[in-house]
Amino acid sequence: MRIVLLLTFLLVSTPFFSQTEDEKQIKAIYDEALTNGKAYDWLNYLSNQIGGRLSGSVQAQHAVEYTKEQLDSLGLDKVWLQPVMVPKWVRGVPEFAYFETKPGLTTNVPICALGGSVSTPAGGLKASVVEVKGIEDLEKLGRDKIAGKIVFYNRPMDPTLINTFSAYSGCVDQRYSGAAEAGKYGAVGVIVRSMNLRLDDYPHTGSMGYGETPVNQRIPAAAISTNGAELLSTTLKLNPDAKFYFKQNCKQLDDVQSYNVIGEITGSTYPNEIMVVGGHLDSWDLGDGSHDDGAGCVQSMDVLRLLKETGYKPKRTLRVVLFMNEENGMRGGNKYAEVARNKNEEHVFALESDSGGFTPRGFSIDASAENVKQIQGWRDLFEPYLIHMFYEGGSGADIGPLKEEGMVLAGLRPDTQRYFDHHHAENDTFEHVNKRELELGAATMASLVYLIDKYGTIPTKKIKG
Ligand SMILES: [Zn+2]
Repeated sequence: MRIVLLLTFLLVSTPFFSQTEDEKQIKAIYDEALTNGKAYDWLNYLSNQIGGRLSGSVQAQHAVEYTKEQLDSLGLDKVWLQPVMVPKWVRGVPEFAYFETKPGLTTNVPICALGGSVSTPAGGLKASVVEVKGIEDLEKLGRDKIAGKIVFYNRPMDPTLINTFSAYSGCVDQRYSGAAEAGKYGAVGVIVRSMNLRLDDYPHTGSMGYGETPVNQRIPAAAISTNGAELLSTTLKLNPDAKFYFKQNCKQLDDVQSYNVIGEITGSTYPNEIMVVGGHLDSWDLGDGSHDDGAGCVQSMDVLRLLKETGYKPKRTLRVVLFMNEENGMRGGNKYAEVARNKNEEHVFALESDSGGFTPRGFSIDASAENVKQIQGWRDLFEPYLIHMFYEGGSGADIGPLKEEGMVLAGLRPDTQRYFDHHHAENDTFEHVNKRELELGAATMASLVYLIDKYGTIPTKKIKG
């Protein structure tokens, strides 16, 4: 024990102990991010000067112009806009809802339309309610108990799951497909418990789809706050005949022209090998999209700046891509991959940040076992920055379409405990992003990009199909 202590003391105190080149470079990246980072200022502008950036909105267009201008100012080799047509869904005037326990005795509850939903009739919609815990309950109840009613999906996120994204995955089907499924049984509308672990008064929007449902059979869908869901559920137990009223006048308009914003440092040695870092520039409209995903955009932008400022010249081409329309269409991610394939571009690595601007913990890696192992081998370099998670898993929605045999994809994994307090809600705003946490995320991403660029990825045999 004493010998170990002595050795440890010598290691940390000896003046002869020298940092490796990698340790020095990574330290320089973190130092630059924490003393001179630009991510927070960019986020401030995106959030407070532009605001929520729903696809097809004026704000989304302003965000395209602003981020392009900022990338232009960084002295990159190339900055351009990649055209992509995006859906345009508008919320209209704020939604309104209450439940009625006796004629005239009503209690208001906070709701918001789900993205992509149809409106209610102009005067709103009032019906009895049937509460379920998920889509699988519909079949058990059958058409008799559902037809003519509003289906209330009230499965909460599982609080025992430490990774809150797993809890989200366990519930989000009721939001995405709840209306299409309930419609098959004759329901007239659906109300979905917000994807939020906390009890509060914010309804959380998010995308939903009608699948094959004919246009004239689509029923409106709204999210209710978690407090509202608890209150409605208790009320229904005491008074199963209570009625629910809601009114929303959202609308799907024609597709409009938009853009992915791309900046590039061309590789000095292997310009044809492309590495991507990115996030999505669009957001929902209730808050200003600071965590989802303003944070990922500004971190990705800062990755290129951090490498430049610390004097590192990538051997491979490094691109920042700010994808448009992740939230309600994925058009930007699909377009980027489509163009890359048409141009026969070789992407070797892609890294996405779309899990909020919270304290970074590490990365999930979608790659061959050898590549996962290589990245895990760099763990010690990250340890001083409290980055410790390097596990095999998914990467991100926008870079997913790029996936090909042999490629390395990764997602930045910040702490997830508070993310769903804000996700897709009115309180996803700038003041909930901590400057240092945001900057640490950018530095963590830049450090991984540096290591991947320096050592390369391990080629995997391409299986010719
Ligand atoms: Zn997102």
